[in-house]
Amino acid sequence: STFALEMKEMDKKPFSVEAIRADFPILQTEVYGKPLVYFDNGATSQKPQVVIDAIEQYYSKENANIHRGVHYLSQKGTDAYEKARKTIQTYINAAHEHEIIFTKGTTDGINLVASCFGELIHEGDEIIISAIEHHSNIVPWQMLCERKKAVLKVIPVLESGELDQEAYRALLNEKTKLVSCTHISNSLGTINPVKEMIQQAHAVGAKFLVDGAQSIQHLSIDVQDLDCDFFAFSSHKVFGPTGAGALYGKEDILNAIPPYQGGGDMIAKVTFEKTTYNELPFKFEAGTPHIIGGIATGIALEYLSSLDLEGLQAYEHELLTYAEEQLKVIEGLRFIGTAKEKASVCSFFIDGLHPFDVGTLLDKQGIAVRTGHHCTQPIMDFYKIPGTIRASFAFYNTKVEIDQFIKALKRSVDMLR
Ligand code: PMP
Repeated sequence: STFALEMKEMDKKPFSVEAIRADFPILQTEVYGKPLVYFDNGATSQKPQVVIDAIEQYYSKENANIHRGVHYLSQKGTDAYEKARKTIQTYINAAHEHEIIFTKGTTDGINLVASCFGELIHEGDEIIISAIEHHSNIVPWQMLCERKKAVLKVIPVLESGELDQEAYRALLNEKTKLVSCTHISNSLGTINPVKEMIQQAHAVGAKFLVDGAQSIQHLSIDVQDLDCDFFAFSSHKVFGPTGAGALYGKEDILNAIPPYQGGGDMIAKVTFEKTTYNELPFKFEAGTPHIIGGIATGIALEYLSSLDLEGLQAYEHELLTYAEEQLKVIEGLRFIGTAKEKASVCSFFIDGLHPFDVGTLLDKQGIAVRTGHHCTQPIMDFYKIPGTIRASFAFYNTKVEIDQFIKALKRSVDMLR
């Protein structure tokens, strides 16, 4: 009940970064003899001990295949896997457990929708994406449009890195069948107003997929409140393992579209004449899955749920403001992405310096950032730059680390100039 949830919230200790850091063993690592400052959380997040322990425990004591076996370990594994599905359902507030499909990650989830929902797309239909999408939310739609002779439309971006909402509304029409848009831009940090965008898409009868790769680790997600039709995320960006993730889809849509891959587990009955498909969610889960990947996704989300999420989000915002204040003073530095609503991502370009050179010098000083186009080439072309230097923060980062980063950045710039 809501009351029980509120009581649980009140039990949580206020957010403390010192306590959190102890949960992530890799944060004690040194690189080149220097303490690791890990600011590449947009690419992948680090793992808390509970996730690492679950993986170790599974392979050393519990490994078995699931959903088929009558024996003890197979049933234990099945229970743990299905419990993880329930955890994901609760975490994103889906109405039903069977609306959660285990995937390999965001890319896999988007491709599933492009393939299966794609079967309902016909010549002349329109699909809308945005100018700030990750390649994994561009290419599957290009492939689909080519296959179905459908038309791909792109919501333009403003200089700030915000989407041009007026242009979006003008693109929507009765031919629009699907809008697929990122919740948070991985290269700019822009938080898109997806809830309003979804309402507007629904008004013309279009479905909406939210790419949640960068939002599930920063925002509280409620798929029923958003009213999105699909929501895709990767476990590895939310403190779980790589090769795992989930796709949420509304029950009626998942029932209306054909399965993705054929194979074991996704069938009800197979004969050479005809095969009938399994019910949701198994219809979309052919073959032996990444069992511990699914289980550990649940563990990672349980870990997050045990934290003071509001405190954590406020702290991440504080890190962003602190970093931006200090970066401002660096000569020739230009922020790429200055949206009003931003996640803890600092993307920037320094006049006359190639991001790769800066990144390489930062690395030698123990600072892990990402440089390049971040799999969002069109947006780099928009800003007419080869790429950016991106520092993306998680709640286990600190202001002391930001100080180290700024010091190292100043040294790198001096060396290159
Ligand atoms: N969308 C966005 C916004 C992303 O940041 C990423 C990962 N960088 C993806 C999709 C793809 O995620 P994955 O590689 O985990 O499938």
